[in-house]
Amino acid sequence: MKTAVFSTKPYDRGFLDAANRKYSKEITYFEPRLTAETALMAKGFETVCAFVHDDLKSHVLNLIHEGGTRHIVMRCAGYNNVDLKTVQALGMRAGRVPAYSPHAVAEHAVGLILDLNRRIHRSFFRVREGNFALEGLLGFDLFGKTAGVIGTGKIGLVMIQILRGFGCQVLAYDPYPTPECGKRGGEYVPLEELFRRSDIVTLHCPLTPQTHHLVNGNAISQMKDGVMLINTSRGGILDTVAVIQGLKDGKIGYLGLDVYEEEDNLFFEDLSNAIIQDDVFSRLLTFPNVLVTAHQGFFTAEALKAIGETTLANIDDFEKGRPCPNEIASK
Ligand code: NAD
Repeated sequence: MKTAVFSTKPYDRGFLDAANRKYSKEITYFEPRLTAETALMAKGFETVCAFVHDDLKSHVLNLIHEGGTRHIVMRCAGYNNVDLKTVQALGMRAGRVPAYSPHAVAEHAVGLILDLNRRIHRSFFRVREGNFALEGLLGFDLFGKTAGVIGTGKIGLVMIQILRGFGCQVLAYDPYPTPECGKRGGEYVPLEELFRRSDIVTLHCPLTPQTHHLVNGNAISQMKDGVMLINTSRGGILDTVAVIQGLKDGKIGYLGLDVYEEEDNLFFEDLSNAIIQDDVFSRLLTFPNVLVTAHQGFFTAEALKAIGETTLANIDDFEKGRPCPNEIASK
């Protein structure tokens, strides 16, 4: 059976080929994203391997199903871009990589916190230009501050542990609490209380209809003045327009993003010679207290190796008609 891999970058080939040495599957790599326009490329491939910006909505699923595709294998944890109801209706199967390295994403989130707080990216440029002044670089001790972790799954729990290591008090919110949170030093509180008490709010929940714009104007108004907001989860959890207003008002003191609501047309591509058409995104980049990275939280050697291995194992399970521990289904 044949697998078509969409949105391929050179590093994807490297880690998928390495994992495939154990299986010797027939894999074809395509650079373009999966969309209605590129769906024809999947014709004759039983399995389609996709990533965060591929379009797996109903229309595209119908097109690739007509072409013979029966399995969708996501090489990522989030699957908000997959219409699982259509997967089910068409009798297809879908899988993902639920855990590869929660440390990769949590450590990146902490990187954003440290960089924003101590303005390390600004120091880098200053020192290179022979400017050794400290004005504008004043930070604060993380020790003793209160951090609010929204979503206490795999990444959120690692985040709690790291933040506790800095000596932060850690508040947590999750509609599905786990005893692990308390064991790692977190304390569950209602969401409103987390917003009210936290100096740092960091998002680690999935994007669902319930979490879409969880951080909106109302939520921001409940937060401390000068709050630090970190999103390494999915862009749609933040209402970007409301966040920009919060930055303009000074309500939000620091913003660290690894994801953005409309990132599909921007991230993972070199657009350095293009005119960015997204005015909301462009406005974000004008603030001195905003740091944006382009969805690189997952991007460590350990995580890519684990993604490759689980992706190939999922393909093997589907092709052989076995139960797959990483199967995703519509609820
Ligand atoms: P997970 O499934 O282990 O944990 C998610 C947690 O969110 C669960 O405990 C769940 O109960 C909780 N949750 C669900 N609805 C919620 C709500 N309304 N409010 C608060 N919490 C809620 O997932 P994970 O592996 O920890 O990953 C979390 C998210 O991180 C993923 O969904 C994905 O979007 C994102 N992610 C980003 C990157 C990156 O590169 N930036 C990489 C991997 C994952």
